[in-house]
Amino acid sequence: MKPTILLIEDNEQNLYLATFLLEQNGFNVVPARSGPEGIELAGRVQPALIILDIQLPQMDGYAVARELRQNPALKDVPIVAVTSYAMVGDRERALEAGCDGYIEKPINPDTFRSQIEKYLKARPAGGGTEP
Ligand code: MN
Repeated sequence: MKPTILLIEDNEQNLYLATFLLEQNGFNVVPARSGPEGIELAGRVQPALIILDIQLPQMDGYAVARELRQNPALKDVPIVAVTSYAMVGDRERALEAGCDGYIEKPINPDTFRSQIEKYLKARPAGGGTEP
């Protein structure tokens, strides 16, 4: 069974690229285009990992991460924030909000897979990630 990754991203180009790369690497991708949609889907699909854009309209990624961490069913699901290259403070805030780590925007197709897999191994969770 393919591990499911919930991808919370409002930018269509980023969503397209990340989905393409993840599917090519054997993941099942569930897209969400806003924080509230992502929170709702996270509870339903029990993803193996959540990729969370920090810059989202209305509800930003920090608020989304905090909300996700309120759900006991999701407490072991790794959350990887996607932050802009220069925004060093964003990364600390993302970790404080409950994210396990971050990857830099723009996504690098050559390293994206290993960046994601690092978090899957570090924190195995439900959603079909049997060791
Ligand atoms: Mn965004």
